[in-house]
Parts: sequence; structure tokens; C-alpha cells
Amino acid sequence: MAGTIQNDKALEILQEEAKRDNLEIIFEEFNFPGWFRGNDSLALISPYYKALRFVALGYNPKSEKITAPLIFANYGYEEDYENLDAKDKIVLVLQERPKNREELLRYEAIEIAHQKGAKAILFVNDKKGGLVLAGVGNFQGYPNPIPAFSITYEDGQMLKRLLKNGITPTVVLRSNSQCKESTARNAILTIKGKSKKKIVVGGHFDSWDIGQGAVDNGVGIAVLYEVARNLSRFNDFYYTIEIVWFNAEELGLWGSKRYVEKHKNEVVLMLNLDMPGEPTGVNIMGFVELDSITREFIYSLDGFDLKDSVKSQPWTNSDHMYFMFEGIPVITTLGWMDESMYRHYHDFGDTFDKVSKKLISNSAAFVSLLVYRLATTEIKFPRLGKDEVIEVLRKNGLDRRLKKQKEWKFDN
Ligand SMILES: [Zn+2]
Repeated sequence: MAGTIQNDKALEILQEEAKRDNLEIIFEEFNFPGWFRGNDSLALISPYYKALRFVALGYNPKSEKITAPLIFANYGYEEDYENLDAKDKIVLVLQERPKNREELLRYEAIEIAHQKGAKAILFVNDKKGGLVLAGVGNFQGYPNPIPAFSITYEDGQMLKRLLKNGITPTVVLRSNSQCKESTARNAILTIKGKSKKKIVVGGHFDSWDIGQGAVDNGVGIAVLYEVARNLSRFNDFYYTIEIVWFNAEELGLWGSKRYVEKHKNEVVLMLNLDMPGEPTGVNIMGFVELDSITREFIYSLDGFDLKDSVKSQPWTNSDHMYFMFEGIPVITTLGWMDESMYRHYHDFGDTFDKVSKKLISNSAAFVSLLVYRLATTEIKFPRLGKDEVIEVLRKNGLDRRLKKQKEWKFDN
């Protein structure tokens, strides 16, 4: 995780490895609201003892030992508390989001539980099989008002059954994590072109600590490294290519945010690699001016099964987001991943054994060719104006969620 000794050490290994390949990686340090996992605990103590499988959400504060009766508040919406007294209780809510209802983000459910007087909140995972779902409790990096944990589907069902049978479970928990202003580093490798204007190819270096971050985003940074090795062999680029290992993405896109603040005027295009799969095409993310160049590129490749060709499906909450907000054209690859790979997203099971070498290899070849095509000649990559960015976000229903998570940086 960003801000830890392990993260720093991993960056140094990357730099040394690159040196052996005659590649020079430099670091750019930035400040961000850090969060450090402590030795947290969570157990059912009545009507019987059972340790619960859980993961603390990012930005949980340190707490005293909390022993309290448990109540079930359905999805955790305001109205779910109508006939409940949550004061001094621990609240159990479902992670699952009902269809046809306004989306409730986890941070909103935490805020509501806090306002109702609850001491802590447990989110029941909707994926079966002993899985948890790590993530931040809010997007701004302030301490969560109460400790929030993700627990497994199975433990959640057990607790719900007890309540249904008229038994009030008593739960004991302690949050030992802490929020602390911290620093982390982005890693940057530059391949010079004729122009100083840059095409940024990036992916997030940090991950969640419970697994090994192999799929999210080990795969992405392995592809990134291979792209760096491939493209460094050429010196006929028009655009400068900057390969960036962004840090602190999982805690709120801090590395890419700081990079954009500093370098936005130098960047003409950004390609994001967050869990890239077996390549099936290119996503131009609402930047429709990129349609013809990417389509022409796809048609020129015979060796790949690019059945998705070119699509325009903008999404947010990864490292391309702040580039997108500036109107800088962003693209990602479209790809396919085996269920066994994405099943353990943000869980203990995101480990090295899930990774397919073939996927990394194919994705790296595809991305290398794509970036080579985009960087060798002087292609115009027109930026979108503010109104056009708003239009793209609105048309794809992204504005509501961005407003909820307080990331809507546009006045209207
Ligand atoms: Zn990721």
C-alpha cells in the first residue's frame, strides 16, 4: 500500500530491475492523506463465540474496544432506519445495491449510520465464498466517522439468521488503523520524442495489502514494464512517451491527481492500464475524435481477436479520471479476464497464482503496438472543453456518482 515501507522497497526493486534493462526510472514524491492498517479485530461473542472474517475499510480511525449489540439495517439507506434504534449499536448492512434505487455509496451508508448514533458498521459482501471487499470508506481521505468493516457473505447470513430468530448478537471490535498525512512516489520513465508533448501510459503501482495485488494491479504494471522495454528500443517518436507507475490509486487516485496538477499542460493523451485483460479492442472513453485512428489501427492488426474493436464507454475512479476532467483524451484497452482472476478483486485471494502470463504477454504486445502507432507521427489529439467534458459525463450517467463522492469539480 502507498506510504508503507513495503511500497517504497517495491519501487526500488522496480528501479533496479529497470537499470539492468538499461532503462532509467525516476521518482516524483507527493503528499497525500495516508492510511495505515493496524491489528484490527472483530468477533461475535454472544450467543456464542466466533471470530469473523473481515477487512477494515480505508481511512478507518483508531478506536477503543467496542462491545455492542448488532442490528440489521437492510441496505443502510436513511429510510432503512425507520423502526430501528441504532444508538450505541453496531449496524449490519448489505453491500449489495438494489436495482431501481438511487445508488448508495459506502461512505454515505457510513455517514447515515454515524448520524443514527451507531458505533460501527459492517458491510456484508454480496459475493459468496468467504470473500471480503477492501476499499476506502470515503474518497477525500478524512477519517471515517465510525469504523467500517467488510465481512463475508457467509458470516453476514449467520448474523442475519440469529436476528431473524429473535436473538440479538453481541459483537466486539477494535479498529487499530490510523490516518496520517504521508508521502508516496510515482515512478516515471521517459522515452524522448521530437516534441516535448507527452503521451502518458500509466497504471497504478499500489494495491491492497490483504492479498498480493497480483491482478489489481500487478497485471497492469507488468504490462507497463514490458511496454517500456519494447518502446525504448525505438528512437523515431514524434511525441515523448512517459510511462508512469502511479501510486496511492487505491486510497483515492492521489498519485495521478498530483501528476495531473503538475504536468497537465504537457500531456496530449493518456492511456490507463488498470487490470488490463486479453485484448479485445480499445475504449476511447467518450473522446470520439479518437475513433478513426483507433479503428484504423485495429483493422491493421490481424494476429489478435479484437472482437470489441472500438467502443466509447467512459468510466471513472481510476488513474485516467483527472486527465479526463481536464479534457485530455484518455483511452484504455478493452479486454477479457477469466472469472478466477476478477473473482478475488480487493480480496485476500488476489494472488500471484491467478495471473496468466499469456494475458500479460498479449496485452503488452497490443499496447506497445498501439502506443507506437499513436506516438510516431504528429496526430492531433484535440482536448475537450469544459462543457464537452460535462456533456460526456452526463450522457454516461457518471455525474450523479461523481457528485455523491464529492468529485464533481464543475460548478454547474
Ligand atoms: Zn485497480
